[in-house]
Amino acid sequence: MLDVVELHASHGRIPALHGISMTLARGETACLIGANGAGKTTTLRTIAGVHPADSGDIFLDGNNINRLPAHRRVREGISLVPEGRGVFAQLTVDENLRLGAYTRDSGIDEDRERVLELLPRIRERLGQQAGTLSGGEQQMLAIGRALLARPRLLLLDEPSMGLAPIVVEKVFEVIADVARSGVTILLVEQNAHLALEIADRAWVMESGRIALAGNAAALREDPRVREAYLGEA
Ligand code: ATP
Repeated sequence: MLDVVELHASHGRIPALHGISMTLARGETACLIGANGAGKTTTLRTIAGVHPADSGDIFLDGNNINRLPAHRRVREGISLVPEGRGVFAQLTVDENLRLGAYTRDSGIDEDRERVLELLPRIRERLGQQAGTLSGGEQQMLAIGRALLARPRLLLLDEPSMGLAPIVVEKVFEVIADVARSGVTILLVEQNAHLALEIADRAWVMESGRIALAGNAAALREDPRVREAYLGEA
């Protein structure tokens, strides 16, 4: 469903992506792992359209979306949960959730109900200011908000960041539930253990390039991955 072809992007004059190509099938969960600064966030942001591509193509179900602005890509079914979650602290939890549906005009209440079934902790806190939620709850809220755009492809940037291990586990349970509901997921994650466990397919990025690609289970056994990303000699 997602085909990224020879994607190049930069920050000012400094290139960050040197021709990234990746293919993701409908219903798959995929992850992008790699060291700090490898270009993972830039890849997600460029797919979402919040960072411009210098060249290359991005196809969603065969349609080239590379020229579409970010809000049009949301309409086409791409939803990004940004690094740091991007929750609006002063708004209530419910207001944050509903913002996810800003590109839509029907079926919102039904979808909100479905999302709340997935996120019971969020339901309990609907009237609360979002800034008062714990980090894990804010991550769940950010995921819920993204789901209210009714995505076909959900992009998640570092969902485990800054969370205690037990909370990370809960967030990943939610991500697995979302995957089971049929949403295709592309996840960027520092925690390669977790990412490779949840994913069907994975790419390892190094210095703006794809260094390794394949089935996540196979990559987990790859000596290069074990040594560099899983902390095993
Ligand atoms: P991290 O895990 O730290 O987010 P990453 O793999 O997601 O790393 P990117 O954030 O995509 O990597 O960064 C790729 C490269 O682009 C890095 O060299 C980084 O320093 C540079 N870069 C990222 N954001 C900017 C920016 N706003 N301005 C200038 N350079 C940037």
